[in-house]
Amino acid sequence: MHCPFCSADDTKVIDSRLVSEGKSVRRRRECGLCGERWTTFETAELLMPKLVKRDGSREPFDEAKLRQGLRKALEKRPVSDEAIDAAVGRMMDRIRESGEREVKSGQVGEAVMGELRQLDPVAYVRFASVYRDFQDVSEFQSEIRRLKRHAR
Ligand SMILES: [Zn+2]
Repeated sequence: MHCPFCSADDTKVIDSRLVSEGKSVRRRRECGLCGERWTTFETAELLMPKLVKRDGSREPFDEAKLRQGLRKALEKRPVSDEAIDAAVGRMMDRIRESGEREVKSGQVGEAVMGELRQLDPVAYVRFASVYRDFQDVSEFQSEIRRLKRHAR
């Protein structure tokens, strides 16, 4: 593939490994011209349900967006890329296995929160406070208390 930074076509794969229990291949690539490195994912194109957004519009399910969202929530948190990939893999499996033709964005949001709760409680509370739009401070505090109980 062409280099996404300088468009040179002299690029090579420097590392390749299976992720998500062997369902995807993660490759590190390097540009021979500018020396930049980036990551690509390869997965079988299986039928995914359409994503139904809050306004009722529909769009193809986008795994890259899901990964991006999770990465953003976990920015600067001590969670490895491998753990994020595994979480994305689990969510994709669950959505695919549901066998539904459509999935609501709200369901995806709940799935993301479920994974975040396992991966990193701080990122979870951050995401949940924005996503669930906690109505008041007491609701937010009870969620944190619940998490602390879990952690023990
Ligand atoms: Zn380049």
